[in-house]
Amino acid sequence: MDKQGFTTGIVHADRNTGSDHGGIHQPIHTSVQYGFDRVEDLIGVFQGTKKGGFNYARQGTPTTAALERKITSLEEGVGTICFSTGMAAITATFLTLLRAGDHLVSSRYVFGNTNSLLGTLRTLGVEVTTVDACDVEDVKNAIRPNTRMVFVETIANPGTQIPDLRAIGKVCGERGIAYVVDNTITSPALFKPKAVGASLVINSLTKTIAGHGAALGGAVTDTGLFDWGAYPNIAHEYRRSTMREQGLLQIRKKGLRDMGASLSSEQAHSIALGAETLALRVKQCSDNALALAHFLEGHKAIGKVLYPGLKNHPQYGIAQELFKGASWLLSFELIDPKRMIEVVNALELPIKATGLGDTRTLIIPVRQKNVWVDEGSGRLPSA
Ligand SMILES: *Cc1c(COP(=O)(O)O)cnc(C)c1O
Repeated sequence: MDKQGFTTGIVHADRNTGSDHGGIHQPIHTSVQYGFDRVEDLIGVFQGTKKGGFNYARQGTPTTAALERKITSLEEGVGTICFSTGMAAITATFLTLLRAGDHLVSSRYVFGNTNSLLGTLRTLGVEVTTVDACDVEDVKNAIRPNTRMVFVETIANPGTQIPDLRAIGKVCGERGIAYVVDNTITSPALFKPKAVGASLVINSLTKTIAGHGAALGGAVTDTGLFDWGAYPNIAHEYRRSTMREQGLLQIRKKGLRDMGASLSSEQAHSIALGAETLALRVKQCSDNALALAHFLEGHKAIGKVLYPGLKNHPQYGIAQELFKGASWLLSFELIDPKRMIEVVNALELPIKATGLGDTRTLIIPVRQKNVWVDEGSGRLPSA
């Protein structure tokens, strides 16, 4: 069949890969254990020599595997591993691929909990430098001989800064550094980080991909661009796999089998249902957010509107070039910040809640000083 469209691909994915009784959805497999007629097959699944099998649900089920296939195809990658939350996906990626003495360069404009995790990495002996990733020179200057990884978010939450995604990808490619891109805000419907040379793509499935605010999940996708064969931190037992498989195999074995932040089949199913309307939702949300941005820009009480779809946004050009829309994430500053609580309380429709990427409009106040210009602490409030 010809290459399918984005939404067509998602809605036919379960059927096309074969499902019981012709069901159009993958069933919710609740088994924890998977039994075999011959013990050799159990051993084969354990050792990874028998492909596609399941043994214990901590490492995946047919339902989570179906969602993994969907995310892989949306991101045009070679494989995906799902986790119980987006933070679990990021944590597993860092902890399974970095060791004490390694160096990580991260954008300083990242989700608050990710920033907190960078602090945890430091306590474990990983050197972390946070940089202004909107300027590729800042990234370049931070790179050292022991730099293993560069981490950025496509559109930073909540300040909407956009890193110089393509230029950073080029630098990482030239120097053999793993380039990890958190695509949560844009999602593959607006942007595929593989296009700028990403090695691994993170998605919080909780947010844009599920879209309904009724399930938690996270994913890491290997784009197939990175040479894991040359990456020093792959354990000897995973070197037996092909170059492409080594990175994800280590993340699955160490991140799911050992650390255990596994996605349940029920949540995987709920996320898969939400994903069917992904393209429609992000298009509508981007249109709505742009209309709202224009309205807020013209309002006399509003100081600054931070939205990558506005021409005065510092990275408007990058957003136009790389993204199909400017997303649903919008921030604004009041001329009189002291009135913030009063203004937020006066809003009737937006729900005062922490969270992102829901079908409903949510609003949360963040300390204004930290929103646009980070004062050097590298800290942004968590959403
Ligand atoms: C929310 C968020 C995460 C974490 O996702 P959870 O599923 O809530 O753990 C990671 N990155 C970004 C950019 C986010 O907005």
